[in-house]
Amino acid sequence: MVSRIIPVETFDLIIFGGTGDLARRKILPGLFKRFCDGQIPPGSRIIAAARSEMDLGGFQEFVTEAIADALGLPEPDQIADFADLLDYVPIDALSDQGWSELAEKLPSFDNTRAFYFSVGPSIFEPLAERLHRHSLVDPNTRIVVEKPFGRDLDSARDLNATLRAHFDEGQIYRIDHYLGKETVQNLMAVRFGNMLFEPLWNSQYIDHIQISVAEDVGVGGRGAYYDKSGAMRDMVQNHLMQLLCLTAMEPPSFFEPDAVRDEKLKVIRALAPVEPHHIVRGQYTDNSETVTYRQDVEDPRSTTESYIAMKCHVNNWRWAGTPFYLRTGKRLKARDSEINVVFKRTPHLIFGPEAGEHNNELRIQLQPDEGITLRVTIKEPGPGGMRLMDVPLDMSFAEALGDDADTPDAYERLIMDVIRGNQTLFMRDDEVEAAWAWTDPIIEGWEARNDVPKPYDSYSNGPTDADLLIERDGRYWRGIGA
Ligand code: NAD
Repeated sequence: MVSRIIPVETFDLIIFGGTGDLARRKILPGLFKRFCDGQIPPGSRIIAAARSEMDLGGFQEFVTEAIADALGLPEPDQIADFADLLDYVPIDALSDQGWSELAEKLPSFDNTRAFYFSVGPSIFEPLAERLHRHSLVDPNTRIVVEKPFGRDLDSARDLNATLRAHFDEGQIYRIDHYLGKETVQNLMAVRFGNMLFEPLWNSQYIDHIQISVAEDVGVGGRGAYYDKSGAMRDMVQNHLMQLLCLTAMEPPSFFEPDAVRDEKLKVIRALAPVEPHHIVRGQYTDNSETVTYRQDVEDPRSTTESYIAMKCHVNNWRWAGTPFYLRTGKRLKARDSEINVVFKRTPHLIFGPEAGEHNNELRIQLQPDEGITLRVTIKEPGPGGMRLMDVPLDMSFAEALGDDADTPDAYERLIMDVIRGNQTLFMRDDEVEAAWAWTDPIIEGWEARNDVPKPYDSYSNGPTDADLLIERDGRYWRGIGA
């Protein structure tokens, strides 16, 4: 199978924070891969703008190292050609230093122009303001903003108001890199491109849905930031919420940005408030190799959660009675993100009790490998009567698509979508605000109750209370890393 690379139009991408961790690990290696695949046309430019005092040679070296770390040593010819696209401007978003130099590098709007705000949100406002003051923006210019998009509804509204004072909503690309994953888009293809699933995709046939994002790493060097945020703000309000929306939404009339985002918004607005006894928060403890969460964040009394599990309900006709169990945490058994759609059992068992009880299950795996598996029930081979077993019908991309399964990383795809002007996989202002409107009372609730997270062993499945949360309902979590 031959994958089709459709070159985008010639562009100037200006990365504020182009020497930061995100640029080094994701944005620059991602752009290099798109370049090697022939998607970036000649005449395009990638200009990093950051506080670091560096000249162009220094930046080109930085990029070469970043690419080598992320992807392995690049071919000398390819890296030399890619380096020709690069430029660097030392700049300070908070003063006038470097702005006229940047403006000199951008004399015309002939190329599609996008500014990537890969910097903390506190400097979005001065950045936006200076971009206009230096006439660096036209109506076709786009900006890309990173998470976190606020820490509650009020701050998200303020941030939206700040951006909307300078840009139209159609120019603002709020990134959630989970939406750029191949499998997440495949979830839509599987749901809306096949007759097979959609008629069953409701509470009549689906028993429950699990959405799990497990990480095996702790908070690492991000302790100070993470401790002010926690798993609910850092993961649930954005990534898990987006996965839930794509799983639960109604079919949009077209695969078109606002049609998709309208349907996602309806799901968020239909989410019921979560009962306190349907929430389990946890904090990892140490083992012989690691330290505790509290040691990691250097606060012996921290009550921030590094793990959360919740039982949620989407209050609409399609989902009444089908719970959504969400969980995410750090320092768990394995890095493993997946959505499990667990179907109901057959209404009547004709094979007798020895055949056992079986559920079909659609497993949409996002990390570490991407793929979709449908578990179906068949007869156990051989003699011995009618015994049943579950086997996977595997739609692993690696097997189905051969070498072309080396699909673009989420950032690669999303940056190319910005240049194409396609906002389908980016969050709209009202979506982000609705997500915070649902999240805020949950956080306020546990703060008012002085809730203390339950300890859990490092590299385990999380707190035992989280097992009880689902087992009380006669269900069980899918194994992490299984
Ligand atoms: P970082 O601290 O590693 O880098 C910050 C960058 O911003 C540097 O290039 C620095 O020179 C530049 N900068 C800071 N102040 C500036 C100023 N006044 N003027 C001009 N440039 C300035 O940060 P990061 O980890 O790369 O994160 C960047 C953004 O992306 C943050 O909003 C972060 O929340 C978000 N983000 C990061 C990750 C990640 O994995 N690193 C993941 C998701 C979101």
